[in-house]
Amino acid sequence: MAVTENLTPSLSADQFPPMEFPRRTERLRKMMSEASWDGLVVTNLTNIRYLTGFTGSAGILLVTAEELVFVSDGRYRDQAAAEIQATGIECRIEIVAADPDGCIAEAAKLAGVTSVGLEAQTVTWAAQRRWQSELFTTGEIAATNGVVEELRLIKDAGEAARIRAACAIADEALLQIRPRLGDGPTEIEFGLELDSRMRELGAADLSFETIVASGPNGAKPHHRPSSRRIVEGDLVVIDFGALIDGYHSDMTRTVAVGDVGDERRNMLDVVLASQQAGVDAVRPGIAAAEVDAACRKVIVDAGLGEAFLHSTGHGVGLDIHEEPRVSTRSTATLRPGHVVTVEPGVYLPELGGVRIEDTLLVTEGGCDRLTLAPKNPALV
Ligand code: ZN
Ligand code: ZN
Repeated sequence: MAVTENLTPSLSADQFPPMEFPRRTERLRKMMSEASWDGLVVTNLTNIRYLTGFTGSAGILLVTAEELVFVSDGRYRDQAAAEIQATGIECRIEIVAADPDGCIAEAAKLAGVTSVGLEAQTVTWAAQRRWQSELFTTGEIAATNGVVEELRLIKDAGEAARIRAACAIADEALLQIRPRLGDGPTEIEFGLELDSRMRELGAADLSFETIVASGPNGAKPHHRPSSRRIVEGDLVVIDFGALIDGYHSDMTRTVAVGDVGDERRNMLDVVLASQQAGVDAVRPGIAAAEVDAACRKVIVDAGLGEAFLHSTGHGVGLDIHEEPRVSTRSTATLRPGHVVTVEPGVYLPELGGVRIEDTLLVTEGGCDRLTLAPKNPALV
């Protein structure tokens, strides 16, 4: 029996607008010309993917004013060549059996680099010491923070299209599976069905481990699906997403199974109003902290401030959690091309939890909601 005949193949890159890879290096070089280092060593694999298209698990990249040098090992000889060539960037590929850092350091010296920036968030202390005492004794080493991440904040049309497609798969999967909540599945059973449906609809993978938190389990924002059976009177928090060509979606809906009583209905009303206030606030020029404040105010005014246990949202892209953060302490200002979530929630041990989350693309005129599944909590 050929079960796979009914499956949609995973969506592939050529179904989307192209991503502007050459432009990314261009923007990076512009930033570099204003920095105090003239070579950047990229070790964060997500940043490498962003700049070169390489999706493997081992590689290191040198960016100078004149060239890009990518070093990996033999396992990735063919994949690196194919993926990097497909982006249209100019990049020299070196395949080495050992010591990629040493190879990159040599390339930097040959290129006349006098100071290299290392990514402070991913370079280990041991590696940094080696760069300083052994690999690059002829020049300066500088710690850099969030340089490529800064570029990644603004999504190009190709990136936005991939995130939108991932969101659409999550919408459709939930639409199809949601009625199953009334059949008394366990959290694990429901989560598995949702995950399988996303794969069947073309997701390359899950965005992250799906959260299905029913009844009292809902009071834990990051509960893992358990063998608890979903029953009448439960609130069920479902937080999940699909992955398309490296790009994530992120959505939460809370469903009321049958009559959940006045207190839980109030929680739903408050979080729905809070989430709407957040979505309404998202536009270019607004401080991310103000979006957080807009959501928080509704929950605080309802007397549930203590039950809102986390920040309002985060950026979404090649990482499921990336900049800009949408929190009380965020210093970010939203700009067109940012993709952020708005996901307030309240969690009460005796009643359960409610969280509603959308992924939003900031546009010139406001924002475009990418997660479109209905927010009406009623199951039927
Ligand atoms: Zn989520
Ligand atoms: Zn989220």
